[in-house]
Amino acid sequence: MPRPIEALIHQPALAHNLHRARDCAPDAQVFAVVKANAYGHGIDRVFDAFRGADGFALLDLDEAQRIRDLGWRGPILLLEGCFDARDLELCSRLRLWHTVHCEQQIDWLAMHKTHEPHRIFLKLNSGMNRLGFTPSGFRAAWTRLNALPQVDEISLMTHFSDADGPIGIDRQWAVFQEATADLPGERSLSNSAAVLRHSERAGVRADWVRAGIMTYGSAPDFPQHDITHWNLRPTMTLRSRVLAVQHLQPGDSVGYGSTFIAERPMRIGTVACGYADGYPRHAVHGTPVLVGGRRTTTVGRVSMDMLAVDLTDLPQDGIGSEVTLWGQGPNGKVLPIDEVARAAGTIGYELMCALARRVPVHLDPLT
Ligand SMILES: *Cc1c(COP(=O)(O)O)cnc(C)c1O
Repeated sequence: MPRPIEALIHQPALAHNLHRARDCAPDAQVFAVVKANAYGHGIDRVFDAFRGADGFALLDLDEAQRIRDLGWRGPILLLEGCFDARDLELCSRLRLWHTVHCEQQIDWLAMHKTHEPHRIFLKLNSGMNRLGFTPSGFRAAWTRLNALPQVDEISLMTHFSDADGPIGIDRQWAVFQEATADLPGERSLSNSAAVLRHSERAGVRADWVRAGIMTYGSAPDFPQHDITHWNLRPTMTLRSRVLAVQHLQPGDSVGYGSTFIAERPMRIGTVACGYADGYPRHAVHGTPVLVGGRRTTTVGRVSMDMLAVDLTDLPQDGIGSEVTLWGQGPNGKVLPIDEVARAAGTIGYELMCALARRVPVHLDPLT
């Protein structure tokens, strides 16, 4: 028998969540963002469920190649554009749309030999200060691109830094509008948080939204809202089993560093899941977990291959009981990845991307 840990990728949940992006932005086209190996889910495993998207958005050229190999003939957008002049050859060959965020990328295009002009997403730095042309340089970049025979349509793009929080998008939206006023072309502004929280503004959801985390069943604005609020479903479950049971007396400790000391008699389950599986070592004592579909908590420190859970109030559970670390548990019970992430001082994105290679992954075609 292999270790009992496994991950499930829920295909109906992926399709449902993608639909939610459509519902929120009904007149927009939707890019399914599948960078970072589809947020740890595996591009091959999400592809079928995301066939209903209008395009795929990603970063790595080999991921673009993979999507083409899977038979996708529609749009693929490189969110950071080319990393080197030679990447343009693959863009031509695979008909990739690509972001242009700096002068050097325009220089490369100007020297590129291609029969088919490229569709470009010209990126404005509207305040996040990561990628993109400044508002004052944007128009000149557009004019330069527009004069190149290598360039076909130019779309206009920016990225919000605070769509999920109290700062919001007003300032960046104003900067975008001013910098792009009277420039032709389709627009692409919204990530998941903007799709969920700001799509009442037609200009914000136009014309292409880039839905990432929401399609993977994590709420970008947790804990203000959770996936139930947004009607999203977990797409990744990490589950394992109880390997051993320990009975503690008051004063007994659990795990490395003896950081947890029992104050009462307790029953503890040792679970086959540790940080080498992608479970966060920073998850504090008391992180929620489901055993047999019932909620309980972790106890003490997470070790490489194991962690402990409190079974004191779950007398029916013991060796072999199913443990849901996050995602969909038995009997329709859900433990949102966001709750576990929060207990570890991080976000759902990081946990799903960090699912370890040693965890076997199975497709769930039913939920
Ligand atoms: C990752 C990314 C997205 C998707 O963001 P989510 O918060 O996961 O929806 C959208 N746009 C760009 C440019 C990105 O890099």
